[in-house]
Amino acid sequence: MKNIYTLIVFFFLSHTLHAQDNNNIKLVIHGGAGTITRKNMTAEQEKAYRAVLDNALQKGYLVLKNGGTSVNAVQTAIMVLEDSPLFNAGKGAVFTHEGKNELDASIMDGKNLMAGAVAGVTTVKNPITAAIAVMEKSPHVMLTGAGADRFAKEQGLQIVDPSYFYTEARYKALLNAKKSESIELDHSDKAKKENLKKGNKTGHRESKSLIFSEGKKFGTVGCVALDKYGNLAAGTSTGGMTNKRYGRVGDAPIIGAGTYANNETCAVSATGHGEFFIRAAVAHDISALMEYKGLNLQDAANEVVMKKLIAMGGEGGVIALDKKGNISMPFNSEGMYRGYIRHDGQSVTMIYKDELKK
Ligand code: ASP
Repeated sequence: MKNIYTLIVFFFLSHTLHAQDNNNIKLVIHGGAGTITRKNMTAEQEKAYRAVLDNALQKGYLVLKNGGTSVNAVQTAIMVLEDSPLFNAGKGAVFTHEGKNELDASIMDGKNLMAGAVAGVTTVKNPITAAIAVMEKSPHVMLTGAGADRFAKEQGLQIVDPSYFYTEARYKALLNAKKSESIELDHSDKAKKENLKKGNKTGHRESKSLIFSEGKKFGTVGCVALDKYGNLAAGTSTGGMTNKRYGRVGDAPIIGAGTYANNETCAVSATGHGEFFIRAAVAHDISALMEYKGLNLQDAANEVVMKKLIAMGGEGGVIALDKKGNISMPFNSEGMYRGYIRHDGQSVTMIYKDELKK
């Protein structure tokens, strides 16, 4: 008798939970922020970007709909974006000064605050899978360089020849960046004076940031998700910045800067000029404003992206999702590739500033 009673209660609970929670699943993605305007984009390019964003949204959402976890959904959506040459992650990643592709990725599980990251990997086809392996299969949070590549191989992840990541467009971007760098180097004095005239204290900063910002397009990809169990997760993957050197690592693999997730507050993935995002501890700061100051998601995300970062001179944006399924996608640049799944299961993709949430 007791058993039958338990069974009935269990059936009732699991049934209502299932019905309720599938309504609450959420998935949001970004494909980088920057100077992305209608003027700079052909109709064909726009269509191509939207198609990949849409595919990533649909595939990630399917995982959630089938009862998968938010970590699984984030992985699935990010892998679609990593496999596309259009975005600066996985295939299509930008080049370092030495003409290599060094990839960074991270993941965080809001359920237990576990996290994993890799930086500077060169042979892992989908760096997000390596970040997840670090989280799930190692006692560490971050592995870098050759060691991280070796770990990924040992874990049986898909390994490719570094030439897999080559795309002509990104290589040309490197050559262009190098050209401006040589101007910067040999102009030193002339440009320094120019910059000083423009009111720049050091005389260096302006030309430096021009080189780093690759025409101010940050093609990093990211995803935040809420699964039917009420768990949040966030992930980010990038090639970093064109012409980076000395093993430079940006915010994307830094937990608390480019990625953060906590069931009690929110999940965040960032894109933008990483040095600023690290110094502003962007992703954790948004979570902390909710946790300690009681701000709602929208206000917390706006505070960091539209006030703190702007005051510091940091360009970019974030996607953020809270445990109730509220979405926020502020950016202080011209545009940001982004998208989410609506209540009715339809995907919405957006690129420009004037596109509002539908
Ligand atoms: N945040 C990345 C970095 O600094 C760049 C990007 O968002 O595209 O490495």
